[in-house]
Amino acid sequence: MSDLSADAVATEHPGAAPADGNPAAPGGGRTVGTAVPRSLVDRLAAGITATGVPSVVETVAPLTGERLAALPQSTPADVEVAFQLARRAQAAWAALPVRRRAGVLLRFHDLLLKRQDEVLDLVQAETGKARLHAFEEVLAVAMAARHYGRAAQGYLKDRRRGGALPVLTHAVEARRPKGVIGHISPWNYPLELCVGDLLPAFVAGNAVVNKPDTQTALTGLWARELLIEAGLPADLWQVVIGDGPVIGPAVVEHADYVSFTGSTRTGREVAQRAAARLVGASLELGGKNAMLVLSDADLEAAAAGAVRACFSSAGQLCISIERLLVHRSVADRFLELFVARTRALRLGGGLAYGADMGSLVSVRQLDTTTRHVDEAVKAGATVLTGGRARPDLGPYFYEPTVLDGVTPEMAVCGEETFGPVVSVYRFDTEEEAVAAANSTPYGLNSSVWTRDLRRGRAVAARLRTGTVNVNEAYAAAYGSVAAPMGGMGDSGLGRRHGAEGILRFTEAQTVATQRMMPIAPSFGLDDKQFAAVMTGGLRMLKALRFK
Ligand code: NAD
Repeated sequence: MSDLSADAVATEHPGAAPADGNPAAPGGGRTVGTAVPRSLVDRLAAGITATGVPSVVETVAPLTGERLAALPQSTPADVEVAFQLARRAQAAWAALPVRRRAGVLLRFHDLLLKRQDEVLDLVQAETGKARLHAFEEVLAVAMAARHYGRAAQGYLKDRRRGGALPVLTHAVEARRPKGVIGHISPWNYPLELCVGDLLPAFVAGNAVVNKPDTQTALTGLWARELLIEAGLPADLWQVVIGDGPVIGPAVVEHADYVSFTGSTRTGREVAQRAAARLVGASLELGGKNAMLVLSDADLEAAAAGAVRACFSSAGQLCISIERLLVHRSVADRFLELFVARTRALRLGGGLAYGADMGSLVSVRQLDTTTRHVDEAVKAGATVLTGGRARPDLGPYFYEPTVLDGVTPEMAVCGEETFGPVVSVYRFDTEEEAVAAANSTPYGLNSSVWTRDLRRGRAVAARLRTGTVNVNEAYAAAYGSVAAPMGGMGDSGLGRRHGAEGILRFTEAQTVATQRMMPIAPSFGLDDKQFAAVMTGGLRMLKALRFK
C-alpha cells in the first residue's frame, strides 16, 4: 500500500488549482495507508463468507487513488452457506427475550461513540467524504441504536385486540421475526445504510445476510465486529461480497425478506425477484429532491441550509437537494448569499476535521456529474459557481456547483446527478412551487424555508415526498428516528425508522382463543335461529359502539 498524505496528493494529481476555485482544506498529515493498515484490512476481511479459493477484488481510496484493500469475493454457493449459518443462529437468538437483544444495541451505542475515530477513518478512506459528513453516519447509527434499544420492547410486545365476539373471543396480535433478512446496501453511507438499517432487524429476532457494496465493505465489517463485541452472536450477521448483478440476486433468492437501498433501476429488479418468491421487500431508492425558499424565509439561514442540503457528502446523499426553487422576490439576494457560501467551501481529503466537502467516490460518479454539467452548459445553462473537476486535490474531486437557466430537456433537470450540483429555478406563487417540486416521478425528501411555521407545515402537506424538513435541509426528518423515513413514487416502498422500520422485519400473527361457545350454531339452535341471534347481536354491538 503506498503512503500518500493528502498534502502529497497535489503532487500526485498535478493539475494546477484554479485561481478563482474553491480553497483547499489543510491535509491534516495522516495518510490512508497508516489509518487503514494491511493488518486491519485482513482482520476485517476474515468476516466475509467466501470459501474455496476465492477470487480477490481490489478497492481504491477515492481521496488519493491509492490501493486500499484486496477483498475475497463470495460465490452464489457462498451465499447459500451464509444463509444456512444465519438460519441456524437465528432460532436461538429469537428465543431470547427482547430485553436481552435490546441490551446488545445499547452496548453497541456506547462502543460506537467511544471508538468513532476508527470508523471515521474507514468511512473517509472508502468513500472520500469529509470527516464531518462521515460523523453524520455515526450520529445516525447511534440515534437508531438508542431508539430501538429503548423502544423495541414496546414495538414488539403482544397487543390485545377486540375479538370476534366480546368476552367469548380473546385475540392477541403477536410479532414474529421474519427469519433471515437479505440486506443489500450501497456505498454512499456505508455505516448508516448497513448497520443502521440492521439494528431493528436484529432486535426483532432476525439474522441477516448482508451484501454491502464492495467499495465500502470494510466499514460494514468493522460495525459487525463491534456489534459482536457488544454481544451479537457472530453467525447472526453474515457478509457476502461480490458483483451486484451476480451476488445480489443470490441474496434475494434465499431471503425471507429483502431490505434494499440503492438506485431505482436496481430496486425494480430486486422487487420483481422478491415478488416472484412472494417475499416482502422494502426499497429505499433515488430522488431528485427540491428545496423551496418562500418569500418570507430567513435568507441567511436558508443559504446556510442550502449548502448543507446540496453538498453534504459531495451531494452523494439520497436526500440531498438537487433543485432549488426560490421565490422571485428574494432570488437575487438568496443567490448572492448562497453562491458566496458555496464558493468559500474548503475542499480536501485529510483524515481530520477541517474540510467542508470531500471527493466523489469513483470515476463513475465524476463522469455523471461532469456530463450533467457540461451538457447543461452546452445547451445554455449558466454556471454561477463551480462547474469543474479539481484534479489538483485528488482524482475524483469536483467543485460544488450552482447552475442557473436549466431547462427540462437537460438531463440535470430531471435525472438524479448524485453529485455536488444544484439547479436554481424561480417561482411567483406557492402553487407554482408545489407543482414544480412534485413534477418528478421521485418522492424522497424536500425542504421548505419560511418564517411562518404554520405555512411551512401547510406546504409540507402538499409535497409528495416521504420526508419534508421545515427550516432544515434533511437532518431534522432523518434524525427523527422515531418517525418513518422513506420514499413515495419512484423513490421506494416501505419505510425505515419508527414503528414501520422495525415491524417490516416481523410477521404479524393473530392468536385468537374461543371460549364457552363456538361461532356456529350450538345450544340446540338451528341454522336459521343462529343467524337470527347473530343478526341481533351485530345490531347490538353497533348500538353499543363496539369497534
Ligand atoms: P446501485 O443500485 O447500483 O447499488 C446498490 C446495491 O445493489 C449495491 O450493493 C450493488 O452491488 C447491488 N446490486 C447491483 N445490482 C444488483 C442486482 N441486479 N440485484 C441485487 N443487487 C444489486 O446503487 P448505488 O449507485 O450503489 O447507490 C446510489 C443510489 O442509491 C442512488 O440512486 C441513491 O439515491 C440511492 N440511495 C437511496 C437511499 C434511500 O434511503 N432512499 C439511500 C442511499 C442511496
